[in-house]
Amino acid sequence: MNISKEQFKDDYQKAFTNMYASTLEGGSSTQQYTALGTLLRSYVAEYWRDERERYIKEGQKQVFYFSIEFLPGKFLENNANNMDILDIVEEGCKELGLDFDEITAAEAEPAIGNGGLGRLASCYMDAGASLGYPLHGNGIRYRHGLFRQKIVDGYQAELPDNWLRHRNAWEVRDHKSSVLVRFGGNVYLDGFHPVYEDTDDVVAVAYDIPMIGYHLSTVNTMRLWSAEVPPEEEEEGLASKEKYEAVDEITEFLYPDDSSYEGKLLRLKQEYFFVSAGIQTIMKSFKRYQISPKDLSEKIAIHINDTHPALAIPELMRILLDEEKLTWDQAWEITINTCAYTNHTVLREAMETWRCDMVKKLIPRIYMIIEEIDRRYVEQNKPIYGDELVQSTRPIQDDYLHMAHLAIIGSHSVNGVAGLHSKILSEDVLRDFSEMTPHKFNNKTNGISQRRYLHVANPELRELISECIGEDWLTNPASMKVLLAYQNDQSVLSKLADIKHQNKEKLAQYIKENNGIEVNTDAIFDVLIKRLHAYKRQHLQLLHIIHLYFYLKDNPQADFQPRVFIFGAKAAPSYVFAKDVIKVINEVAETINNDPDCKDKLQVVFIENYGAALAELIIPAAEISEQISLAGKEASGTGNMKMMLNGALTMGTLDGANVEINSFVGDENMFVFGLRKEEVDRYNERASYNSKDLYKSDAKIKRVVDSLVDGTFPRIQIEGQTIYDHLITHNDEYYALKDFHSFVEAQEKAAKLYKNKDEWNKKSLINIANSGPFSADYAVQRYASEIWIAQPKAMRTDKSIVTSHDEPM
Ligand SMILES: *Cc1c(COP(=O)(O)O)cnc(C)c1O
Repeated sequence: MNISKEQFKDDYQKAFTNMYASTLEGGSSTQQYTALGTLLRSYVAEYWRDERERYIKEGQKQVFYFSIEFLPGKFLENNANNMDILDIVEEGCKELGLDFDEITAAEAEPAIGNGGLGRLASCYMDAGASLGYPLHGNGIRYRHGLFRQKIVDGYQAELPDNWLRHRNAWEVRDHKSSVLVRFGGNVYLDGFHPVYEDTDDVVAVAYDIPMIGYHLSTVNTMRLWSAEVPPEEEEEGLASKEKYEAVDEITEFLYPDDSSYEGKLLRLKQEYFFVSAGIQTIMKSFKRYQISPKDLSEKIAIHINDTHPALAIPELMRILLDEEKLTWDQAWEITINTCAYTNHTVLREAMETWRCDMVKKLIPRIYMIIEEIDRRYVEQNKPIYGDELVQSTRPIQDDYLHMAHLAIIGSHSVNGVAGLHSKILSEDVLRDFSEMTPHKFNNKTNGISQRRYLHVANPELRELISECIGEDWLTNPASMKVLLAYQNDQSVLSKLADIKHQNKEKLAQYIKENNGIEVNTDAIFDVLIKRLHAYKRQHLQLLHIIHLYFYLKDNPQADFQPRVFIFGAKAAPSYVFAKDVIKVINEVAETINNDPDCKDKLQVVFIENYGAALAELIIPAAEISEQISLAGKEASGTGNMKMMLNGALTMGTLDGANVEINSFVGDENMFVFGLRKEEVDRYNERASYNSKDLYKSDAKIKRVVDSLVDGTFPRIQIEGQTIYDHLITHNDEYYALKDFHSFVEAQEKAAKLYKNKDEWNKKSLINIANSGPFSADYAVQRYASEIWIAQPKAMRTDKSIVTSHDEPM
């Protein structure tokens, strides 16, 4: 948008005074932030309204992305960047005598997602708007997001997150869009008409946040629902204290676990709550198109992000049957054509199931519909596919509802999120389904926002790239490949190294302030940031660090490539192994950081409270990107893409999207190690891996593992034993010991390469140049053209985003 700096400064002062009846300079940074955010939102408000109306007027197909998590990160800078006024805002604030960094620091991060799943949803929101697609989010406005992590005596402590303490400048409460969601009670059919008795009603109130596209291509909506007591019950004094508490609870907390789910009634309530509110609203707005419900799938696409929103399928059926009075066959065909599902995991424990009696009690009408879906599924498919296939794929089995089965059966598309993952789905985890309906299965490799993770997080690198290759790459990331022409240009490589060094200095400053550790910024910054989970194998890096520690103790005079190991990870509060790994990392760090033999050579830092905001500080400073999950376990990963985009070299197994990274840059520009997926399968099939034998016969491994329990590191009696037991007593489920030597060798290779700075920088540039295809823009284009069949609006030609079919894999 076009606005002068003077105009902005004037607007900002007025906005502040309107809001707080005082002067800008005297405000707290939180007030300064809130007024600034509110002002920027007001700049796009009319355009936002116009775009909403245009979508309806032009009858454009709308896509609704249902996700129980979003992880938007801070809005201010990213939105200002997308509005093309980041410079004006930043300079304007300075001229007004304000500290822009303090203002951005005052923004509370909406931690309404756990990690990768939610962050992916938010990257897609950004890409959708930037490309001019009518892509809208549908989720939950948790009053408390993911816990804040504090490290106390080396342990993770969980503190409540209160991101809404001060008002959220970006949201608009739209009570006129409220809808009623029914729970419990009895339902019986009067003919075909359901009659409800004694239901427990809840109102879903909409809070809308604008999703502002790059160069203001369009403004879409992320709609988050909040539960409230129905106003009628309140006014008539019918709502008890218990009712208020029960309603409040629904949107109070985000479940702090992103890979396995406790069978909690509240979780199921949350799922139906936001799904029902979203589907009802879609059907209401669909009426404005004035066409028959039979044509729903021409105007609407519903995306089910992981299984949590799978109740969208029976909920849509409910409305088509009970309210639109369609026949079952008509309703079912429409539902399938409208819905699509993305699978995000192959971990058994993360496959969502619910006890049928619970579903029946909580949402009786929906359960009736699910039973009918199940009954007809068996009846229709048994004659064609035989009993065995049908029994293994039906949604209801042994009194449990299998959400993935429901999602697959009720969708026209099922996708995995990286080449290897999609292959595992169709050949293994979901093989029976893919035998029956192969046409549904497809791959959509994940993508990331290059605007957030490069343009905004690393502006110096953005400048350098534009200096070299012009600005086309900003809207056409695949053309970053042109950078390859500079891989031997010493001046560019040295600028690249300077930028990395500055970013390391910035992170070092943060570490000094927050951890009290002065890290050596000439050392390799080796970064492992992601949720803590056994399959992601933070403990393998821990073993590697202990190995290096012993090496330094044995060879204090050795020529050693200095390294700073940086961790960031939250553990689910009930996940004992993960929490114990955090404790051991911190105690090992304490010993190493205080050992004179390690000084400036080996340092270990655990940065507390890793989340979307810290990611933007850490990623630009990363030199090695650790992606060390056991092959076959990580669906895709996106942290790997973000760090590649910022010039880190990947240390990785051939897992998830590491496989695609490898196919782009080749073995010579990353460090590949560890078992391949097929090898893991073979060991599993034959049950031929015995970690105890390996431990007993390998002195190096034995020494490292023993250090967890022999007092080498104080204060880890219990936690060290947990990891020891996992590795030895329970046979090392994720093959960390099996991959140990291969990992150590790859790490030695990295250390050696780093001594040749020119070579390192060249490889760094090659990684950046090849990261374009991982832009979320391309991922969203592929979803739109192959799954949603949705069109972008005609874009202004001067700044349009060029499409690329440079598909990973
Ligand atoms: C990108 C991101 C993730 C996902 O990281 P993976 O390495 O893919 O597991 C998790 N949390 C945050 C805050 C992120 O930005």
